[in-house]
Amino acid sequence: MKKICVIGSLNIDIVTSIEGLPKIGETIFSKTFDVFVGGGKGANQAVALGKLGADVRMVGRLGSLFYGPEYLEVLKKYNIKCDTVEILEDIYPGIAVVTVVSGGNNMIYVYPGANQMVNEEYIDKIWNKITECDIFLFQMEIPLGTTLYTIKKLKQLEKTIILDPAPAVVWRDEILSYVDYITPNEVELATLAQTPILIRPEDYYTAGQKLIEKGANIVIAKAGEKGSFIIGENIFEHIPAFKVKPIDTTAAGDSFNAGFAYALANGTDNLFDCVRFANAVGALSTTAIGAQTAMPTLEKVYEFLNSYK
Ligand code: ADP
Repeated sequence: MKKICVIGSLNIDIVTSIEGLPKIGETIFSKTFDVFVGGGKGANQAVALGKLGADVRMVGRLGSLFYGPEYLEVLKKYNIKCDTVEILEDIYPGIAVVTVVSGGNNMIYVYPGANQMVNEEYIDKIWNKITECDIFLFQMEIPLGTTLYTIKKLKQLEKTIILDPAPAVVWRDEILSYVDYITPNEVELATLAQTPILIRPEDYYTAGQKLIEKGANIVIAKAGEKGSFIIGENIFEHIPAFKVKPIDTTAAGDSFNAGFAYALANGTDNLFDCVRFANAVGALSTTAIGAQTAMPTLEKVYEFLNSYK
């Protein structure tokens, strides 16, 4: 089993729900309030890998305020190697404030906190531990400069790099050529390829090819209930989604990426099979409420795949 490393964000999620939006200057009461010590795309992918039983390490930074130390304990429970998660004194960890508005729409603000302090010096400080790993997962919730710096160094060592361009807010095309697999969802793919909204398989092909022209190697596009698409210079494959009854699609993309990395680490040599496994992990994560709590164990994934044979 190859070793996997996630270099990314850890967020504490604050979730409230309201009937309708307040006007500017107005105060309203919220219906619910929860704090979840478990969020951030990086940590979500690490937890999904931990639940699958992968050999996984998390690299990131937390603050000592507002549940930061508690989050480290949560990660340990999932058997994630965490001696490369540092807690900074008197700093807030990343905090996502999620407001669920009746009718199912979400509004999310993210305060980057300690995630913003995952810098080049920190990467250098823990470089020996990082390079023990073989497969790397990145997202876009730590500074882009750090990601680019680290990916370039890892590429020289011929490590395998998977980039989830989420959220696709700050971006540099230069990054594409250093990455083995880029895994946008449909909105991110349309944004990065500067194409209109993607509907038909041809739209995914055209948008994927634009990223290939800009230097990407393999694009694995996540397409929700449509499944996913593999797009390369001479590749175009649609891997249909598994039929499930989705309850909550939060972190389906993070589960998908973890599933993909797990299959690669486990020696699955066929890209199609890796993506099919990722589809199964993504689909299963939508059948329960929550992010990390909804991610399936390996046993559950095999049971599900066997029921499809
Ligand atoms: P993101 O969460 O990044 O927006 P998607 O919604 O595309 O990503 O979901 C990631 C993957 O999870 C999909 O490619 C698919 O394999 C699986 N998935 C998501 N939603 C469903 C669904 N409704 N039915 C089956 N599989 C799904």
